[in-house]
Amino acid sequence: MQAFIGLGSNLDQPAQRLISALHALQRLPGIDLLSHSRLYRSAPIGPQDQPDYVNAVARLQVNGTPHQLLHTLQALELAAGRQRLRHWGERTLDLDILLLDSQHIDAPDLHVPHPQMTCRAFVLQPLLEIAPGALLPDGTALSSFLEEVAEQAVTPMSELDRDALIE
Ligand code: ADP
Ligand code: MG
Repeated sequence: MQAFIGLGSNLDQPAQRLISALHALQRLPGIDLLSHSRLYRSAPIGPQDQPDYVNAVARLQVNGTPHQLLHTLQALELAAGRQRLRHWGERTLDLDILLLDSQHIDAPDLHVPHPQMTCRAFVLQPLLEIAPGALLPDGTALSSFLEEVAEQAVTPMSELDRDALIE
């Protein structure tokens, strides 16, 4: 199946963490990294007393089931030292499944398409960068939601910014 994954981090060298996560995904058996967006910087949603986030979206070819993919991503989050501190709070690595082909999944631990993806500019902008024609399973163009999130500050990071974060 083909998957779009959202990556986010706002702790401990976030840009570096996203790049490491992309490398880790690429190395996993049964996963092909087909493409990924640039890195974007976004203001936090939820608690405001936390650093800005770095976000990206990757497109993967995946062998296996949706839950196997979820568990693989959770293992990568844990390996990045992720602890659940507070809802929508700071994290070293967040890996969300955004889309899986045109599947609709409503399991207790897995909702696909990701329920918040259409109201988050930090998901829509990088996703549309690599897949301008991406659709929801019901055929709605994801680009049609961009206008509603236009006031959210999401900026592609320049090479300079990225190097500054990587050190
Ligand atoms: P958020 O990503 O909303 O900030 P978390 O990453 O802490 O919050 O959420 C983790 C929980 O969300 C996991 O326990 C996982 O089972 C559940 N979940 C439901 N749908 C998805 C999805 N599409 N991708 C990733 N996790 C999901
Ligand atoms: Mg998550």
